[in-house]
Amino acid sequence: MKTLNGIVRHVLRSSKTSSHLLNASRAQSLSTSPNGPWYDLSEEQKSIKELTDKFAREEIIPKAAHHDQTGEWPKEIFDKAWELGLVNGTVPIEYGGSGTPLLDRCIIGESLAYGCSGISTAIGSNGLAQAPIVLSGNDEQKKEYLGRCTSEKIAAAYAVTEPGTGSDVAGVKTKGEKNADGDWILNGQKMWITNCGVANWFFVLARTDPNPKAKKSEAFTGFIVEGDSPGLTRGRKEQMMGQRASDTRGVTFENVVVPKKNVVGGEGRGFLVAMGAFDLTRAPVACSAVGVAQRALDEATRYSLERKTFGVPIASHQAIQFLLADMTIGIETARMAYMKAAWEMDQGRTNTYWASIAKSYAADVANKSATDAVQIFGGAGFNAEYPVEKLMRDAKIYHIYEGTTQIQKMIIAREHFNRVK
Ligand SMILES: Cc1cc2nc3c(=O)[nH]c(=O)nc-3n(C[C@H](O)[C@H](O)[C@H](O)COP(=O)(O)OP(=O)(O)OC[C@H]3O[C@@H](n4cnc5c(N)ncnc54)[C@H](O)[C@@H]3O)c2cc1C
Repeated sequence: MKTLNGIVRHVLRSSKTSSHLLNASRAQSLSTSPNGPWYDLSEEQKSIKELTDKFAREEIIPKAAHHDQTGEWPKEIFDKAWELGLVNGTVPIEYGGSGTPLLDRCIIGESLAYGCSGISTAIGSNGLAQAPIVLSGNDEQKKEYLGRCTSEKIAAAYAVTEPGTGSDVAGVKTKGEKNADGDWILNGQKMWITNCGVANWFFVLARTDPNPKAKKSEAFTGFIVEGDSPGLTRGRKEQMMGQRASDTRGVTFENVVVPKKNVVGGEGRGFLVAMGAFDLTRAPVACSAVGVAQRALDEATRYSLERKTFGVPIASHQAIQFLLADMTIGIETARMAYMKAAWEMDQGRTNTYWASIAKSYAADVANKSATDAVQIFGGAGFNAEYPVEKLMRDAKIYHIYEGTTQIQKMIIAREHFNRVK
């Protein structure tokens, strides 16, 4: 490890070296991850954390309030994160990415979300768009669309939800029909799509078998759609409760032609392709929720040591200590849960059960921690001049996107019964 500090310093100056660090971490994590429980980060993982903590401190935190207030997509921060190799960790090395293990990507994600979870969502959402291609795309698609993300500073979007359906993905109405050349014509509307306003390309789920009795595992197809396709119209940026730096919009497809080579994972397999992506992305959502919770704890702890009531810092009151202790319990255990979910995936095992546990639990922890941080700040907590009001607004989305908490519990129950059968 004698050169590690040097490597980290280089990483801050050079995107090339950052890829080296991430690649080194990949080799380390894959070769030395224990088969049982583990309780410490590897030296490389600590270096990655140091790098991303510094990035959050220097690049994200100073600009978070601006992006929260204006809703401006953080292009400048996205570009810097891209240069450091923090944007496209999902992409395998052979397609120009860093092929960073999921556990290491989660460590990165927690640090970035600690800085601002709206900005970290803007930085991290390429991973959601890329996941179906990584898992089910062919070599040509990977070279073109994953390669484009790693050679240009572009964003991509995952477009499944529609105005009429979110949790019930089989209710997707966007229609795909083949034309005489065997290419596809898409018509329909998507809603609440992250990165929509800035996406260079979209992963889109459409119904391609009009028979209402068709099995959902055969009725839908996933497509890669170019962002500049004629007939593709992006809606206005939605006014969100929190994570306002992230760009969320609707998008309409009117006779959008998609070449047949852009079918992902085979005609009719779209439902499985789209849902499979969540094994790669729910642990990263959980780690971001932990980042928000940790920030809430740190802000509340600092304030509790400064603010005095009845002649003593409020940290001396047992009621405040217990709020902080409960936040700590939640954060430490939610962190273990996302690490377990990510580690399972890195071992090449299906992690659906753990990813849903981590996502639903970390969402609760983020919301409770942010609410309790507001409580500890008292009146100042309710004021936008102080940092915790934003955390409370930002935290709520973890109960909703990438499958609501209720949907996670349905998945956990299903997996539980599968295990006990
Ligand atoms: C900021 C933001 C970003 C997003 N980004 C994306 C994106 O990039 N791509 C994308 O495709 N989608 C995205 N979404 C959509 C998101 O995934 C959906 O909003 C979510 O899946 C819920 O769907 P819905 O809004 O239609 O709610 P509904 O499905 O209508 O659910 C409403 C309520 O009913 C509950 N519910 C539904 N069914 C059941 C059931 N069977 N049992 C018990 N309770 C149930 C839900 O948990 C929820 O509380 C985003 C949403 C937001 C708000």
